[in-house]
Amino acid sequence: MAQLTDDCFAQGGPLMRVEEARRLLAESITAVTERETVPLTEALGRILAEDVTSPVNIPPAPNSAVDGYAVHHADLDPAQETRLPITGRITAGQQNLPDAPRGSAIRIFTGARLPAGENGGPDTVMMQEDCEVEGDTVVIRPGIKKGANARKAGEDVEQGSVVLHKGQRLRAQDVGQAAAVGRQQVVVSQRLRVALFSTGDELREPGAVLEDGAIYDSNRYTIHALLSGLGCRVDDLGILPDRLDAVRAALGAAEGKHDLIVTSGGVSVGEEDHVKSAVEALGKLHLWRLAVKPGRPIALGQVGRVPFVGLPGNPVAVVVTFLNVVRPVILRMMGGDDTPPHTFRVRAGFDHKKKIDRREWVRARLVDGTSGLTAEKFARDGAGILSSLVAADGLVELPEDLTRLEAGAMVDFLPFSEVTQ
Ligand code: AMP
Ligand code: MG
Repeated sequence: MAQLTDDCFAQGGPLMRVEEARRLLAESITAVTERETVPLTEALGRILAEDVTSPVNIPPAPNSAVDGYAVHHADLDPAQETRLPITGRITAGQQNLPDAPRGSAIRIFTGARLPAGENGGPDTVMMQEDCEVEGDTVVIRPGIKKGANARKAGEDVEQGSVVLHKGQRLRAQDVGQAAAVGRQQVVVSQRLRVALFSTGDELREPGAVLEDGAIYDSNRYTIHALLSGLGCRVDDLGILPDRLDAVRAALGAAEGKHDLIVTSGGVSVGEEDHVKSAVEALGKLHLWRLAVKPGRPIALGQVGRVPFVGLPGNPVAVVVTFLNVVRPVILRMMGGDDTPPHTFRVRAGFDHKKKIDRREWVRARLVDGTSGLTAEKFARDGAGILSSLVAADGLVELPEDLTRLEAGAMVDFLPFSEVTQ
């Protein structure tokens, strides 16, 4: 089993740019999970731990892409209609194929094999919609190209080629691809076992009575969903009080059974923020002050040998930090590629001022208008306003060097769908 480098989150310098953070994570986080074999029906969202190679050509043999008539192209008159006798019939899956001599047409169906023959067999299929049938004769209009509607052996996948790569996360079509090359199961990375806590004396379980000064714990549910979406096995360990001894005991107890510990809240610099001191006492802690808004600081460290991520308390900062830092860490720990998610160019529907030298993410909703997609900003944008995330489709990513954005300019938009599943 691969080990984490000792003190994997060590960093220097005051404010760290996102690219720098991603580079450091890529260098220091290695895969920790073992491999396991799963049936294809359980493979969705898992990270592939092997290259999948095809033992067969797909399709295995030349076949028809349509319902119609298979012909030798050389028999067709390019200038006028051609009449050919229908001498045979081939359906999908049929094994014994009729002869298909020159000068004849074969009634054929989608997926049915094209017969080979002395002259190479029929090489072109006329769609039935483009033919007329008169008794046993098919009348073919001029103009079809040689090879039309005929699929070649191996045109989809060549025997011996790698169809799925180690490190990729399996989507629906990838699972189908594994089946298409004959796999019943695939080797994937085991799910990362993540311990999850929220912290704060003000937090209550949803459903409990809210006395003065209390709020419901929402972050733990957001983070639980984000972790599950990435394929982690989450151990929900509840709410920790703002007391050093309690935090320390809970984190210490979580160490042995998990690959990663995640908390929210309690990592700012106030004296009621005990997570920092607890992790320092149990291992190592680094406060990464990222040059971002929202979302700093984030605490990264180790409880014993288990990596630790202390997310902020503010619900919006939680999500943004998760997507930027925790997601790549998790994918890497599970042996996955962490190629940055795709952003898309859209028009900004708002003016915005920002500080130089920090990256900012603005919650936005996409509106489809006459000039294409426009990103509209949510009116209230504090880091604690969870409803602004609910109303958003994603984040507009504003680069470090920008200080002023004017409505109408093109910006990078990161859809939540790119990063939350
Ligand atoms: P903290 O970082 O612990 O000082 O928390 C910053 C802000 O986020 C405070 O307003 C907290 O009440 C709020 N907060 C912290 N944890 C949660 C949580 N689990 N759910 C909702 N809000 C939270
Ligand atoms: Mg707190």
